[in-house]
Amino acid sequence: MSGIQPGLDLAESREDHKPVNGHGLDDGLSLSSLTVHADDYLNEGPDVAPPMHVSTTFRYGRDPETLKITTDPNDPYDGHVYSRLTAPNTTRFEAILSKILKGPTLTYASGLSAFHAALVFLNPKKIAIGDGYHGCHGVIDIHSKLTGLKKLDLDCAAEELGPGDIVHVETPLNPTGESRNLKAFAEKAHSRGAYLVVDATFGPPPLQDPFLWGADMVMHSGTKYIGGHSDMLCGILAINPSRAKEGWLEKMIQERVYLGNVMGNMEGWLGVRSLRTLEVRVQKQAHNTEKLVEWLHAALHPDKASTGSDAAALSSGKYQAVTQVVDSITHGSLQEADIKDGWLKEQMPKGYGCVFSITMKSKDHARRLPSKLALFHHATSLGGVESLIEWRTMTDNTVDPRLLRVSIGIEGWEDLRDDLLQGFQALAAASG
Ligand SMILES: *Cc1c(COP(=O)(O)O)cnc(C)c1O
Repeated sequence: MSGIQPGLDLAESREDHKPVNGHGLDDGLSLSSLTVHADDYLNEGPDVAPPMHVSTTFRYGRDPETLKITTDPNDPYDGHVYSRLTAPNTTRFEAILSKILKGPTLTYASGLSAFHAALVFLNPKKIAIGDGYHGCHGVIDIHSKLTGLKKLDLDCAAEELGPGDIVHVETPLNPTGESRNLKAFAEKAHSRGAYLVVDATFGPPPLQDPFLWGADMVMHSGTKYIGGHSDMLCGILAINPSRAKEGWLEKMIQERVYLGNVMGNMEGWLGVRSLRTLEVRVQKQAHNTEKLVEWLHAALHPDKASTGSDAAALSSGKYQAVTQVVDSITHGSLQEADIKDGWLKEQMPKGYGCVFSITMKSKDHARRLPSKLALFHHATSLGGVESLIEWRTMTDNTVDPRLLRVSIGIEGWEDLRDDLLQGFQALAAASG
């Protein structure tokens, strides 16, 4: 049978076109197999690419005997009622996310609205948090106003935490790209009955799985790597399966209905489109970043780099401009002590993330470098296929004004290297 034949019952025809796999997908499948197929069971018709559903409201069934109230997102085609509750594209997006993040997952209008929802749900008296994304501190300020929430230092003594409090760890960390030991923070939180919430925005799959190390909840700004094309705002909360068993998911779904901070239909559709290529994008971006950081590190320390394919270029002084204008760089791959210790490789086995920072010798050089580059957009945000560079002090006044945050895209890494090099050379020439 092919297509919808005249006189044929529509539902029957759809049934015929349903892919065979789907809901009960084998968890042994690879990341890309899951991002391409984990929503197959929600694929109603013959479409290969998901149709876009823009409706805010959904017809109830015609048979009055079977009318029932359901907001079960796993029963989406029967369950959709109103798009503040669930909507078809968002449900497909959440179905894939739940598989790849390895816990039931809800989406929100933005990363910060997800963080807000996490604080509303857990309602802690204290939250231990370090530097990192400044916006999260803004959300905490709002909660402090409403509930008296107190902020503790991330490295506070365990005794300062109580049951129900939060240890919030961002890793890898904004803007340095350095990683933190989740296992150690989980132990500290759990020793006091507190929860570990991990902002894993900088370490999407396949780079890390915070649940393996004890996270109770994992947050992402899906605006970054999950979206991956700089065209959608999205927040994500994944719930540790053992916490989901305690009823967290149902309560958080209920609270989202009343917070009303859901993504738009278009974003749900874009999210599925984006997830299809998550693994290939992130792998390429992580590879590019490792290559570029390795190159910059060698160029900054030409004395130490006696081996490698670039040895001749290094000794010839080809990269001299780097040492003239760059003071230092930071990235997880340069956390030598932590790599030696073992935990960093264990927690980030597939690469150390696609963001790093460059601290220039002067604030003026940091201000000018972006305008010398051809392949990097001078813009905030990160995680997209396009490489970005940002003079970070423009949006975050807590960082060194000589610091540039770099988000590496999927371009060829040698092209990015050559672009950075000519930028450094232009700055070095201009400063004589
Ligand atoms: C961007 C970002 C956020 C905030 O996400 P939005 O989607 O912009 O609200 C939170 N944490 C980190 C680490 C981020 O990079």
